[in-house]
Amino acid sequence: MAAGSTEPPVVEFRHVNKTFGDYKACNDISFHVAKGEFFSLLGPSGCGKTTTLRLIAGFEEPDAGGGEVLINGEVVNRKRPYERQLAMVFQNYALFPHLSIERNIAFGLEMKKTPKSEIPGRVEKAMQMVRMDPGMFARRKPAQLSGGQRQRVALARALVLEPSVLLLDEPLGALDLKLRKEMQLELKHLNKQLGTTFIFVTHDQEEALTMSDRIAVMSNARIAQLGTPAEIYECPRTPFVARFIGESNFFEGKATGRTADGHGFTVEGEGGRYDIPHHPVVAEGKRVQIAVRPEWLDVLRPEDVPADENALPGKVQEIIYLGETLHVLVKVGERTVAVAVRNEGQLTRPLGFKSGDAVAVAWKPEDCQVLEED
Ligand code: ATP
Repeated sequence: MAAGSTEPPVVEFRHVNKTFGDYKACNDISFHVAKGEFFSLLGPSGCGKTTTLRLIAGFEEPDAGGGEVLINGEVVNRKRPYERQLAMVFQNYALFPHLSIERNIAFGLEMKKTPKSEIPGRVEKAMQMVRMDPGMFARRKPAQLSGGQRQRVALARALVLEPSVLLLDEPLGALDLKLRKEMQLELKHLNKQLGTTFIFVTHDQEEALTMSDRIAVMSNARIAQLGTPAEIYECPRTPFVARFIGESNFFEGKATGRTADGHGFTVEGEGGRYDIPHHPVVAEGKRVQIAVRPEWLDVLRPEDVPADENALPGKVQEIIYLGETLHVLVKVGERTVAVAVRNEGQLTRPLGFKSGDAVAVAWKPEDCQVLEED
């Protein structure tokens, strides 16, 4: 349920399972989406995102005895798609090529037997929402539009129905990068402006981080982690999530004791000894795995490491110039650790290291994430 609200979630899954033959596409999926939320299902190809979306839409039913799908507090397992007050936008737009843009947008309203006098006004309003000038575009056919314009029509055609939930299945996948970035921001603004709940499927982690209020990261038909973009990026729960969202360095070791302040643990690992924060899965004598984002690591001269930081000795292997940042690759024992350093201008304030220099890779103990098993 939405925090501080007595309204039921707009969409809720309770232990939903969906099997195709002997293949499980959704395995015990539970989540809820609050009114007005921008909620993304993110994961690699084949992890079950589209199946989850189709279960919401009513194009699929959960297995017999395989949990419940609720919309606005009501179980809808057996309800047809048109009974669910939803609209969907597909990756391939699915526009009718022989109909004009205005007829494409009006189509759903005509199917719902909306009074004829209402239709032109609603079509015009929907076109304005997606920033398409009706005077210029209403009479054109889809073939006379660019890819980005077709995507806007697909969006207008869904929004004109005033759905309580808008389902979007990789809707920006066919657009070039620049247009995709523009549309990402526009979709996010539309979501806030209209107050409509958006459920968005994507395999693009950056897209999900940019747009979403919350993200469900899916892996192998399950939700691996559900949280805000910051929670997912800064506290990935498992190695899969840490790898899938952004870049990370992984370290393994054994917890050998408590830290001096008694809050965390000391780990004996490859490359040396370091401290980690308290975490319920860690106990003395147990193996631990941690992840540290490249931008949370520092590369320092060994004598410059602050006393309260972890440091592993290594040798600079390579420096990669990326513009905004530099990636310093450091050989620590047998492995390579990536450290992202802000580029302060190599022509004016060059980095003080070169390949072969002896350095330390350092980080604050609280800046590593203790991972659970996948
Ligand atoms: P993608 O990003 O590639 O679209 P996805 O995460 O959306 O992937 P789904 O389309 O939900 O994945 O599919 C999950 C799994 O279920 C896949 O292995 C797929 O082959 C299988 N699957 C989906 N629909 C069917 C079906 N109707 N019959 C049989 N198997 C199916």
